[in-house]
Amino acid sequence: MIPALGALHTGRLVLVPTDPLQAADQATIAKNLEAIGLIGAALPTTAAGELRFRIGPAFGSLIAFTGCAVSFGDADAADSPGPRIAFPPPSAAPRLFVGRNTRPPRCPACRAPLRDWLGPLRAAASRADPTESLEAAASLLCPGCGTEACAYQWDFGRHGGAGRSVVLIDEVFPGEAAPLPGLLRALERSTGCAWGYFYQQD
Ligand SMILES: [Zn+2]
Repeated sequence: MIPALGALHTGRLVLVPTDPLQAADQATIAKNLEAIGLIGAALPTTAAGELRFRIGPAFGSLIAFTGCAVSFGDADAADSPGPRIAFPPPSAAPRLFVGRNTRPPRCPACRAPLRDWLGPLRAAASRADPTESLEAAASLLCPGCGTEACAYQWDFGRHGGAGRSVVLIDEVFPGEAAPLPGLLRALERSTGCAWGYFYQQD
């Protein structure tokens, strides 16, 4: 069977503390992002405890969209297309957020790319699920300098990353949207740590 093209995930913008070990209360982050207008009406919380929201009135002035014209849809319609914002509960340890857009990560010591990064991660994964169960703490060995470091310490650039607290914005094609400085400053104020971003396509 050839999967339908429509089944491919467009992608998501992932906001994350630059230090993957940092974590913050998801409700506090959501409250602060509601105050600046990034998020709007609440959607039902998922069984996994993920808080979900429609976009808020200031969404378009906190996130810069590039390229073709973007339609946010009708934010008040329950089934409207357009971005959705989710706050998973913080995890006890960093989780990896990688996908089909992810490229070889770079060594934290010498910046050499590790072409076969997925092989060692899959070998260390406890379940068969391809990307969800990849162990962020699995050790990756640098072919360039011999450094051995946990996967979450490697540099995935804008093509993946790791964290305990994340803000997920679906559906965003990789590179199509980026948080403006005001949004990153608001996250920093509400959590006390610096934030960055990357993209993930399931
Ligand atoms: Zn290295």
